[in-house]
Formats: sequence, C-alpha cells, structure tokens
Amino acid sequence: MESQAWPLGRVMKAVALLEERGLLKCLWCGTELCRTVCVEPHDGGFVTLDGVKLWAWTECPKCGYQWALWKLFRLVCVRNEAICRELEQVLER
Ligand SMILES: [Zn+2]
Repeated sequence: MESQAWPLGRVMKAVALLEERGLLKCLWCGTELCRTVCVEPHDGGFVTLDGVKLWAWTECPKCGYQWALWKLFRLVCVRNEAICRELEQVLER
C-alpha cells in the first residue's frame, strides 16, 4: 500500500471499514480507537482536502499513542491480507 495523498473522504471510509471489522484498535495496547480523526495542515501530509495536504491521526485513549493513519493502515495490511485488499479498494478507487 502506497501512502500517497488520499482524499479525506476515502480515509474516513477506510477508518469506518476497520471499525466495522473490529480492527480499529491500537496495535500496541489493543484498546479500541475512536473513529474521530484529527487533522492538521502539513507539507508532508498524506491526506488531501480541497487541495490542502493534511496530516491525520487518531489518539489511543489508553496509552496515548498518536496513530498516523497511514501507519495504522500499513500495519493492519501486514497482519491481514484480506482486509488489506479491502482497504486498498476503499483508498485507491
Ligand atoms: Zn494504545
């Protein structure tokens, strides 16, 4: 999976997909992550909204780790090939 510039709407669909599958969890402590995503403008952002590049993350309510969504998606992909294909479809098409 390439972490290029994904439209924010697709990223939100990908987050919803992980939640639906019970996979929206912190990979360090296993706590369920909130599907509320934080964004801020960032030159190296991997999400776009109206041509603006954004950094996007969600924070683990237990351990406080801030999961950049590209990293969460990538690690989910490494662990689960079937979900990876679904994620790619949501993100790339
Ligand atoms: Zn955690």
